[in-house]
Amino acid sequence: MIVGIVGFQGDVQEHINSLKAAGKSRGIQVRQIRRPDDMNGISGIVIPGGESTTIYKLLNTYRIYDLIKMECKSGMPVMGTCAGLILISKDTGDPRVNGMGILNATVTRNAYGRQKESFMGEITVNSIGKMVVPFIRAPKIVNADEDSIIGKYGDEPVMLRKGNVLGLTFHPELTDDLRIHGMFLEMVEGEGYISTGE
Ligand code: GLN
Repeated sequence: MIVGIVGFQGDVQEHINSLKAAGKSRGIQVRQIRRPDDMNGISGIVIPGGESTTIYKLLNTYRIYDLIKMECKSGMPVMGTCAGLILISKDTGDPRVNGMGILNATVTRNAYGRQKESFMGEITVNSIGKMVVPFIRAPKIVNADEDSIIGKYGDEPVMLRKGNVLGLTFHPELTDDLRIHGMFLEMVEGEGYISTGE
């Protein structure tokens, strides 16, 4: 199976490394997505962290924003991390970034403060347990369906899952912990979706 990663900006290579490591025994291939044709034949997609306003612009410039939105609404598994979560959410609270509305969530960008307010936090994730992960100019999830919350930092929701959609405010790809990428690849295998890229 081929998993796509939106490859314009942000921590693309780190996700590729984690997906390859977590997918080694599963025969998973990873492909960067930068053009509509790249969407052909993928079974899942990751939208990385980075700068959501920039990724948003580039997704539109290269005409893949609507394609991703459509395929994910049709059931293709998607994992959005940080800026990626902002992009898949329904309400980003920022007119410069139009959320795809794949995930029924409201987020606030840069809600912990500036870059220097970035931190490592211990989170608890359903069916995984505790993990220590970096939050980098992270958004906060201010509203989400209660049953979609699968990860918390203290009382705050930081990870959501609804069907084929996974969204996180933090960066598992910057750790050696492959459990969240493993969880996503299980979703990809379970769904067996193949994008036609149309
Ligand atoms: N603050 C960034 C944004 O709003 C997200 C930060 C990140 O992805 N690490 O786009």
